[in-house]
Amino acid sequence: MNCGSFAITNLMNDKVHCGEGPSPAEMSMDNRESINPKIPARIEGLGELATNLWWSWNPRARDLFNMLNPAAWQLSVHNPVKLLHDLEGEVLEEAATNPRFLRHYDSVIGRFRSEMRNFGGWFPDNVNNPGRLPVAYFSAEYGLHHSMPFYAGGLGFLAGDFLKESSDLGLPMIGVGFMYPGGYLRQRITSDGWQTNESEELHKSHAPITRMNDETGKPLVIQVPLIEPPIFAGVWRLKIGRVSLFLLDTDVEENDPWNREISSRLYVGDAEHRLRQELVLGIGGTAALARMGYGRLVLHLNEGHPAFAIIERIRQLMEAGLSFTGASGQVRNTTVFTTHTPVLAGHDVFAFSLLEKYFGSYLSSIGLDQEAFFQMGTDPARPDAGFNMTVLAMRMSRFHNCVSRRHMEVTEGMWGHLRQNGSPEPFLDYITNGIHLPTWINPRLESLFNRYLGPGWLSDHDDPTIWELVDEIPDGELWAAHRLSKMKLITHVRERARQRWTLDQPDPGIVLLSGVFLDPMVLTIGFARRFATYKRATLILSDTKRLCRILNNCDRPVQLVFSGKAHPQDYAGKEVIQQIYRAAKDSAFGGRIVFVEDYDEQLAQYLIPGVDLWLNNPLPPMEACGTSGMKAGINGVPQLSILDGWWIEGFNGFNGWAFSGGLGDDRDARDASQIYDILENQVVPRYYAIDNGDGVAHGWISVMKEAIKSAGPQFCTRRMVKEYASRFYQEGLKEAERLPL
Ligand SMILES: *Cc1c(COP(=O)(O)O)cnc(C)c1O
Repeated sequence: MNCGSFAITNLMNDKVHCGEGPSPAEMSMDNRESINPKIPARIEGLGELATNLWWSWNPRARDLFNMLNPAAWQLSVHNPVKLLHDLEGEVLEEAATNPRFLRHYDSVIGRFRSEMRNFGGWFPDNVNNPGRLPVAYFSAEYGLHHSMPFYAGGLGFLAGDFLKESSDLGLPMIGVGFMYPGGYLRQRITSDGWQTNESEELHKSHAPITRMNDETGKPLVIQVPLIEPPIFAGVWRLKIGRVSLFLLDTDVEENDPWNREISSRLYVGDAEHRLRQELVLGIGGTAALARMGYGRLVLHLNEGHPAFAIIERIRQLMEAGLSFTGASGQVRNTTVFTTHTPVLAGHDVFAFSLLEKYFGSYLSSIGLDQEAFFQMGTDPARPDAGFNMTVLAMRMSRFHNCVSRRHMEVTEGMWGHLRQNGSPEPFLDYITNGIHLPTWINPRLESLFNRYLGPGWLSDHDDPTIWELVDEIPDGELWAAHRLSKMKLITHVRERARQRWTLDQPDPGIVLLSGVFLDPMVLTIGFARRFATYKRATLILSDTKRLCRILNNCDRPVQLVFSGKAHPQDYAGKEVIQQIYRAAKDSAFGGRIVFVEDYDEQLAQYLIPGVDLWLNNPLPPMEACGTSGMKAGINGVPQLSILDGWWIEGFNGFNGWAFSGGLGDDRDARDASQIYDILENQVVPRYYAIDNGDGVAHGWISVMKEAIKSAGPQFCTRRMVKEYASRFYQEGLKEAERLPL
């Protein structure tokens, strides 16, 4: 089967057919009708727009949904599928005859459709890919929008931003992941500060996903090849601009009850359950791609979870007639692996006995003996530990990278011994992470930049010269835009508190410390991320007296906003949250410490641009890269960060604050004291050095501008994806042309 060229054409255009096999478009069932049959013909494009996440990073498309009915838009929690689903026929009829709405509609839909039909972009202009082969990106999580809770933290947002940027650049990308119909856990905090979790089921008809059907019109269900006992998965498609993300779902009738639960939740604790997830993702995902006509491709593994895809690619090539050695070589030459975890304990290792249980028929079908298979995942430094997914991925990928320079140094120490003797290729490489700028730029700053950086700035935003124009923005205007973001954050947080109060009458103490005291005039520090203990959320609470003096200073007060979830099985992480709660409750801190429940993508969109300073103090070298500080930076929120992850590359002396951190037993205390020093001597005085003439702190604004200028061109996915394309994909795609698939 030689469907590669069809497959890619298909990615960019739904109407192209392939000689052999069904095309994904033919196989997918359009759910536009099912959203709301009452959508009038004049504005029928709304359904198409709602089911393509392109709307989420295009502010004019967001405005369009808001214009339909602002209250309903808010009630839908900015989910256009739900909005259209819930709207009354009259509202839609009215919109279809409202000239102002129609003008806006025509312009948004026109741009959307022309972009979706267009095959062009930076990638086809710059990367040689005559067969128009795709890159298949595999990730266990994707952070795309809060209406699709398929993420836990940074790894997922990186994957989501990667797909959005690929669409913008015209890179023929296909994503593979899980749908997690069990949803992610909503965080609730009890009156004694303990995190409890309410799981919220994913409402499939309110999500912009479409079930893939087979040739006969029945839902497509694939079997994970040769794995015993058998496992099946359905396939859903999510459109992200020009890119498709295929989501596997084990909740299908064909499965035994215990297998239906495999993909219900993200990151389960039990090793066997986790192994079964990874079998479905890697082997099932690869089989699903083949079933849809994607054979010749470059495989990109985001972290080790999907690494079994390598084995299944080898099996496919052996089925096409290659020897094991030949197939492994070709798979290696067409595989990219990105590692993210600088601690050994964070890498998946499975007991050999567990693999034996599932892989028996698989191995005999490819004529591979068990020893040789186990060898692929054995770490020579710890041969008895079990089958290591990172070792498998490192060995079997010609292109592997770390996600910051520092992370590469740490990874060298962890995996340098896997280097093949005499290999001329550099063993490790790094491509520093970035963020999808159109997703994370605050709309108020975006319009300010449209005015001062020129209307085309967004399409060339990885060009540093454009960002020099930030200096031309009058300080007062930048400050006014930031103040508005801060007000929006405070209003949002208070609204959440009010709703919590009216919904379930919690302990009033909980409501008070969830943000009702926030003061827009006060210097506000934000700390929000996953509550893993290495992130050291409570570091700033170490010296109570000193912190009290900083927060309660009458002239120059400071307030602290915390938010973040601990993994449901992470007891230590929950204790960290409880410590913050106790501090927030402690009247000695004067009500200046706030904890906002249920951190998610939506809250991040308010919180990150709405605070004045972003705080980051993980225990080095545990933060492989970190991305929330980049999101802050492009929004003019400087960071105060320990020198770890991306900040080693990003800090330039003017764009925020850095400290190097100590060593030894009392390191936490010493790190905290460096934070207090910087706050007392640099941050607070500068923030409050307000010019009496115009009421603006020009010294502070200069740091804000530096933060924007340094993060914008460098720490964006535009720069990052271009690096992957020119350093890895270009070469890999050339090799993929030769695959006999
Ligand atoms: C960006 C983001 C993260 C990742 O932040 P890190 O600083 O990389 O840990 C986590 N959660 C949300 C909601 C985000 O937007």
